[in-house]
Amino acid sequence: MQQVTANAFTDTTYRGCNPSFVVTSDGVVVIDTPQLPTKAVEMRRAAEVHGPVRYVINTEHHVDHIFGNYYFRGAGPVVAHIEVERNFMLASQVPSPYWYAKQALPTDDPEGEAIFPDEETYYRDPNRPAIIFTEDLTLKVGGHTFELLYTPGHTVGQIAVHVPEERAVFTGDTVFCNCQTWLYVSSVDQWLASLDRIALLDVDHVIPGHGPVTNRAYLAVQKAFLMEWVTTVALGIARGWSKEECIARISFADRFPVDVGQGHMMEHIQRENVSSLYEKLTAGRRP
Ligand SMILES: [Zn+2]
Repeated sequence: MQQVTANAFTDTTYRGCNPSFVVTSDGVVVIDTPQLPTKAVEMRRAAEVHGPVRYVINTEHHVDHIFGNYYFRGAGPVVAHIEVERNFMLASQVPSPYWYAKQALPTDDPEGEAIFPDEETYYRDPNRPAIIFTEDLTLKVGGHTFELLYTPGHTVGQIAVHVPEERAVFTGDTVFCNCQTWLYVSSVDQWLASLDRIALLDVDHVIPGHGPVTNRAYLAVQKAFLMEWVTTVALGIARGWSKEECIARISFADRFPVDVGQGHMMEHIQRENVSSLYEKLTAGRRP
């Protein structure tokens, strides 16, 4: 794992989110779990070298942040916003999150097949959130403070984890650093406000949900990119373009690559981002 600060570690190198942990004087706090089974097992082992896992925090409900919880059963309780609990691995989501985790195995984690649970086994105990909150929540663990800040936008239950002692914030997918931003189910309006909230933190290290570790200056890049997306689709609508015309004509594929292991999703991301914004803007809703 990459050591970001004296006690904060992350991994930005494989498919899925950037799973991370912070070592305290009283055990380890995990922030998001690897989607790939062998990586989840490896990360738990790496964390437990430093002491018992006291808490596992999920920053959102998307599968790339929570599927690995399964491999942290029996570690400390999972902590998440109430909307993460409500949306946790819902089989009704399209695509099904269980299927999405499974179909990554042949290409990204063939050895993981052997420890990948069948659907019934998985859903019997996927290690759901056990400690649930609605706004912000602060945990004190050893000498460390974990401020779980409600920062909705990318998803409804999105949080950032601020660790002042490390001068670091783990933003989850409120920041996609130097890679494509997914905004299918997002509220961009809320997302911008959340970026502003994070920008007020006195930190040196920004650990994004995807892409390399960065700093506060990148928050402005993320903000501008979101505004560009909204404005570009709004301009298409103003020109009288239909949804299909917007999809055909609008793409930011040349701006950033897709995060590691998901290059095949590029066109899908462009189409779904346009579609999502078009629907909201033409229905008179905030984007
Ligand atoms: Zn993600």
